[in-house]
Amino acid sequence: MEKKDLIKWDKEYFWHPFTQMKVYREEDNVIVERGEGNYIYDIFGNKYLDGVASLWCNVHGHNHPKLNKAICDQVSKISHFTTLGASNVPAILLAKKLVEITPKNLNKVFYSEDGSEAMEIAIKIAYHYWHNKGYKEKTKFITLSEAYHGDTIGSVSVGGINIFHEKYKPLLFDVYKLPSPYLKALEIAGREKALEYETTKKLVEEVEEFVFKHHQTIAGFVLEAGVQGAAGILPFPKGYLKEVERICREYNVLMIVDEVATGFGRTGEMFACIKEGVNPDIMALGKGITGGYLPLAATLTTDEVFEAFLGEFGEAKHFYHGHTYTGNPIACNVALANIDLFEEEKTLENVRKNIDILEKRLLEFLELNHVIDVRNYGLMAGVELIKDKKTKQPYPYGERTGFKVAKAMLKRGIWVRPLGDVMVIMPPLSIKEEELNYFLDSLKESIMEVCGD
Ligand SMILES: *Cc1c(COP(=O)(O)O)cnc(C)c1O
Repeated sequence: MEKKDLIKWDKEYFWHPFTQMKVYREEDNVIVERGEGNYIYDIFGNKYLDGVASLWCNVHGHNHPKLNKAICDQVSKISHFTTLGASNVPAILLAKKLVEITPKNLNKVFYSEDGSEAMEIAIKIAYHYWHNKGYKEKTKFITLSEAYHGDTIGSVSVGGINIFHEKYKPLLFDVYKLPSPYLKALEIAGREKALEYETTKKLVEEVEEFVFKHHQTIAGFVLEAGVQGAAGILPFPKGYLKEVERICREYNVLMIVDEVATGFGRTGEMFACIKEGVNPDIMALGKGITGGYLPLAATLTTDEVFEAFLGEFGEAKHFYHGHTYTGNPIACNVALANIDLFEEEKTLENVRKNIDILEKRLLEFLELNHVIDVRNYGLMAGVELIKDKKTKQPYPYGERTGFKVAKAMLKRGIWVRPLGDVMVIMPPLSIKEEELNYFLDSLKESIMEVCGD
């Protein structure tokens, strides 16, 4: 097999996700062959720093001996057997572990394979919960504009990113939509004060009024944990998540928190809900759960939610959902090893140290002529590019300015994937201080190279 054949077959047979294939096929692309620590290597042996943590999921680096071993150990026993009416050892141990490390009120674990499904399941559980309790009119969900919860029809229904979601509108179910907290905060308080608690209080008035009016028809309030990631890393103003929790409790609405992006250490705590002191009723996990090694996700619930599904078989109250690979033992075993590594490698300490560096150095970017905003929540950050800072005129969508900066990063040995014209900083949690500094230096140079001074 020759390298040029691989390049040809990639373009001929492989339809890539979230990719304009016409453009992809015209360009040179990285075909990854192996990984080592925080780096990936392509088929030509070129080495790149993994600047997106393999799309936000890699935790301890690539090709980690302990994670590899967890996979091999399990493969030598059994690779898969259904969990519909049977169980397996790693899935049991992982469920117990997840209950121990997540907010204390979450005691039950429902597995799936990716974040979209974990959210889809959260929505079905919430709807079904109220149905089983006899509240048949509680069928609708509050969602936020600019939200992202995945790409299946249910998770798109609760999403709010127009460019991804608008086209599918006729296929989606109807939801209540409240404003994106960050964008609304910008509007009412300006950049300097957007994230302050005073701003939160103003935002929350509108939320509370809405819930007060409609709570009889609301099954759940669906939101990301502390930051709207896919919208361009839009953090919530201080205390917003906690205020939403208070409102949910007051008006008998289930709080459904999507920790797919924030879970497993990204914020400097194991979960954003723990950082914010929030106890949701339902929580979705994905991405980092296996350290970025295998597809696995989980939806956690309280005992109260779980118990609404209990009854005699003939009552047909049970949750009618399950996938072929639900609770896959290889994925669960590597997830267990991933969690163990947090202590062994002092991962959270490393993340916190890097968050400090990131937060200080992000301010340097504001001095650039084509950067309009910088934002972060933990070790995830966005640097937003703009054509004209004074008139706030954006670059035309078709110009792909973000992609051009990403190409300039590639020349410097870093693989990144922007969200439109927001440059995303999302390295593996194991990134070293000097690597993060190199990442930030390179991003600055690349922006200046593409956008001019
Ligand atoms: C990535 C993501 C999802 C979807 O997860 P997939 O594994 O891609 O299906 C859902 N919610 C959030 C917040 C995410 O970042």
